[in-house]
Amino acid sequence: MKNFLLILPLFTLVSLSQEDTRYIQARDLMVNSQIAARGISDPATLQAMRKVPRHLFVPARYAAEAYSDRPLPIGYNQTISQPFIVAYMTELARPARGKKALEIGTGSGYQAAVLAEIVDTVCTIEIVPELALESETRLRLLGYRNILTRYGDGYQGWPEHAPFDIILVTAAADHIPQPLKDQLAEGGRLIMPVGNPATIQQLIVLTKRKGKITEQRLEAVRFVPLRRLK
Ligand code: SAH
Repeated sequence: MKNFLLILPLFTLVSLSQEDTRYIQARDLMVNSQIAARGISDPATLQAMRKVPRHLFVPARYAAEAYSDRPLPIGYNQTISQPFIVAYMTELARPARGKKALEIGTGSGYQAAVLAEIVDTVCTIEIVPELALESETRLRLLGYRNILTRYGDGYQGWPEHAPFDIILVTAAADHIPQPLKDQLAEGGRLIMPVGNPATIQQLIVLTKRKGKITEQRLEAVRFVPLRRLK
């Protein structure tokens, strides 16, 4: 019995580290073949995508598919975005040390974690209470101390922590909420899918310079709709 007890933790450790190696390889392959190969070149973004354990952000039954080239269900009719889209939005945001980011639509917490690898602080808001609680717990367990989570309607932003150098909206609407434009810092960038929330949208980048906002329209994308609290 004594031997058995000694062996068991050792065995668990060995099998855990083998699993880790498998996931690290899967992550490298994901970054090389889906992300770098498609033109993402920001070193900080690539490094963050290599580091964040995406398989721990999806339901356990999807862990084996966590590094495949597609979005995955996370429950409550919501999805974790395709890895390329996460990397693309991260690079567009121009993340760097010293910056503060706001994310609307925490979902699994994956995009928040990727940003948090690079910027100083990430504030993130989720409207589905169960997802807000799950992602908060997950991010805490994974040791992300620079992410502030909140349950609520992100349409209003998070005025107490504004202004933000980066605002990422990971749900679609037919317009960009005015409170988010107002909470964008000087020199800040806001990235959001805008268009018909039920079908297809266009990725929009807003930049604020000397208080003036300019708009850039990019690729067609498909996100879940931005909901409103009744
Ligand atoms: N960024 C997430 C995936 C986004 S899916 C990830 O990395 O996993 C879009 C998320 O936005 C969903 O979880 C949805 O519940 C949430 N959402 C929709 N409308 C919202 C709103 N008004 N405020 C905050 N979150 C919202």
